[in-house]
Amino acid sequence: MINQKSQSSDIRRVAVVGSGLAGLSAARLLTQQGTSVTLFEKSRGPGGRLAAKRVTGGSADVGAQYFTIRSPEFSRFLHEYAGEAAFAAWEARFGYQQPDGRWQAFPEEPRYVGTPRMTAISRALASGLEIQAETRIAELARTDTQWTLTDTAGQPYGPFDAVIITAPPAQARDLLADSTLPDLAQQLNGPVSAILPCWAVAAYYETPPTDTFEGMRPNHDILYWVANNSSKPGRDDKGQWWVLHATPQWSADNEHTPAEEVMGSMVAAFQELTGAQHAPVETVSHRWLYARSADSDRPGCLWFPDDGIGLAGDWLAGGRVEGAFDSARSLINAMNRV
Ligand SMILES: Cc1cc2nc3c(=O)[nH]c(=O)nc-3n(C[C@H](O)[C@H](O)[C@H](O)COP(=O)(O)OP(=O)(O)OC[C@H]3O[C@@H](n4cnc5c(N)ncnc54)[C@H](O)[C@@H]3O)c2cc1C
Repeated sequence: MINQKSQSSDIRRVAVVGSGLAGLSAARLLTQQGTSVTLFEKSRGPGGRLAAKRVTGGSADVGAQYFTIRSPEFSRFLHEYAGEAAFAAWEARFGYQQPDGRWQAFPEEPRYVGTPRMTAISRALASGLEIQAETRIAELARTDTQWTLTDTAGQPYGPFDAVIITAPPAQARDLLADSTLPDLAQQLNGPVSAILPCWAVAAYYETPPTDTFEGMRPNHDILYWVANNSSKPGRDDKGQWWVLHATPQWSADNEHTPAEEVMGSMVAAFQELTGAQHAPVETVSHRWLYARSADSDRPGCLWFPDDGIGLAGDWLAGGRVEGAFDSARSLINAMNRV
């Protein structure tokens, strides 16, 4: 058990907006305490930026590439709620390129991935939770001490004693502003401007395009990260799916460039980087408007007890997958202190 402490008796029903790792973690921790939780997710399924695209022969992780398990709490949480089958260590060679062009190995640290795809973790964590998928929450309204949520189709949900918002900061700010909570919305102006976009491309090669590292961070104007997705545990591809992520600057400059053109530029940059002589036989792309946060403050979470509103997400705890869990845990702890 992660946290045995029982929650404030006033909070019995909680709405969680967003079912990425932060939302799923918050829901799991609350449910374990006996609190009734409903998750609302605008997409078809849970996971958020733990994302995989279906491709020929399997899937490719177009969002988070791997994650760390540095804290014992995250380790216990994953083992207890996701289960051993949902993730494994990615034992591979990782290198980054210095400004002078030389390559250096990443520091030694265990790196983990979902098996057979990143979304295996969110799928396992979501099991048994009440999730309203394909439901984008447009507004929160307070009546006395309780909240009603309304989706974009005008459907109301509630009442709830508290609301946890785990959307990325721009979407969280819009939701707060549209719910006549301008003071709370204003607090997100800084984090909104720190969010960086990312164009992601997955490219399938029938024969290996390179054999140096499985994961690379080049010093490059276009490419921020490239990885052999097929080298991750549990993947069973005949050839190799490579995932390419563009730099934040290039992604911002090409926000409105057609996907075909983006794929052409990124694949050409990858071929130039690796010296690969042959072209991929299949490519897919995904544009992330909100991928990662630039370095910023790490308050852990935001909890407004008078309003019964909490915010959690990677952007409040250093970005990244483990930060999303840390943020959810710190929010539930803050709610328990009420
Ligand atoms: C390209 C890319 C590469 C990355 N690489 C790594 C990596 O290698 N290692 C690492 O640790 N991290 C990486 N990250 C970051 C990692 O994916 C995130 O830190 C983490 O997944 C964030 O989880 P979260 O729950 O905070 O947010 P999210 O996963 O974004 O979840 C938020 C959820 O809220 C939903 N939502 C938003 N608004 C509404 C609404 N109004 N109503 C209902 N639902 C709503 C969204 O659909 C989404 O599912 C990467 C991210 C990207 C995009």
